[in-house]
Amino acid sequence: MKNIYKIREDFPILNKKINGTDLVYFDNAATSQTPKQVIQKIVDYYEQYNSNIHRGLHSLSTDATNQYELSRKIIQKHFGIKNNHEVIFTSGTTHGINIVSSGLESQINSSDELIVSEMEHHSNIVPWQILCEKTDAKLKVIPINKEGSLDIDTFKTMLNKNVKFVSINHVSNSLGTINPIEEIIELAHKNNSKVLLDGAQGAAHFKINLSEINVDYYVASAHKLCGPTGVGFLYGKSELLEALPPYQGGGEMISSVTFKKTEYADLPYKFEAGTPNISGVIGFGAAIDYMNDIGFDNIESYEQELLKYATDRLKEISGIKIYGNPGNKISVISFNLSNHHPSDIGSILDQFGIAVRTGQHCTQPVMDYYNIPGTVRVSLSFYNTKSEIDLFIDALEKASNMLG
Ligand SMILES: *Cc1c(COP(=O)(O)O)cnc(C)c1O
Repeated sequence: MKNIYKIREDFPILNKKINGTDLVYFDNAATSQTPKQVIQKIVDYYEQYNSNIHRGLHSLSTDATNQYELSRKIIQKHFGIKNNHEVIFTSGTTHGINIVSSGLESQINSSDELIVSEMEHHSNIVPWQILCEKTDAKLKVIPINKEGSLDIDTFKTMLNKNVKFVSINHVSNSLGTINPIEEIIELAHKNNSKVLLDGAQGAAHFKINLSEINVDYYVASAHKLCGPTGVGFLYGKSELLEALPPYQGGGEMISSVTFKKTEYADLPYKFEAGTPNISGVIGFGAAIDYMNDIGFDNIESYEQELLKYATDRLKEISGIKIYGNPGNKISVISFNLSNHHPSDIGSILDQFGIAVRTGQHCTQPVMDYYNIPGTVRVSLSFYNTKSEIDLFIDALEKASNMLG
């Protein structure tokens, strides 16, 4: 990466000391760090034009509304979305999936089938289980194989006229696998099934054009791509979003309210009841601008370099087992060291200032598949460096010696 040390200056938290040593932040798949450009944008909102949107014509409210809607345009453009009203602001990926799964209740019946995969995040499993409980529809699961890839041949055999919906992640948060989404979408569409793509992990690592891949729904969270927590978006094709009932009722989502009949507002407001996370949405737009300034091509190639370096160095340590070696993966490495419990490794690494995630990573079925309680997960971002990887390897060797 060009100017990596200059990029790191954008992230105030990277100067932090943990237990007297420099923080090494390798938990980017759980949440990414926030550059000062995004933090400043949020501060500006509170210092300069904090007010509610869409209500009242006073100057502050106009500024807030303009900035909020500007973020919608930034997201529309970045994700190659045809219509501005197809971008719905949510509190994050989980919220977006629930809007769709709960909205489908009246369109799904007991003879229908829904498909997810074995490598989904819990937030792309549980909402569909709830829908199946309510409708008696059947939930089917695309299996994974040893390499941590989806078994596409089995997926093909699972498709039949009863399959109404396929919900799948673009990138696995626990294994790093990049799924062949174009192929999955095409197979599902040939079968007349709609597809939701969970972009929570993928959106942070590469640019995606939703019109080109022709997906029906897409969800993502700002906090995994340098934005604030508690905000994300749902994309849906207009005609599909129009056919979905609102997720919750309240202010700003209606065009008329009487006790006889209430008319809902047009898209996107039908799904944006109540006062939204205004500063969060504005920060989300700033985060996408920030990442585009760095350039997704640069991010992708640098992260691949870090992935290769970290994988090679990890393999030098005896007793390391890496889970998930698919051909195509992002800079996420899940591993265990001998028979040590992942949380023991995690807490020793923390003593050396190194932040990793340990456990199931909200993907218990993946851990069950490998028959392990969990893994240590290192997830690298474009602001990490090879020297941080060296510090991590040193600390891991120490952990290995300490645990014997
Ligand atoms: C993080 C993540 C989610 C959940 O995102 P939230 O921001 O917690 O709603 C869902 N799917 C994947 C693949 C994730 O990585």
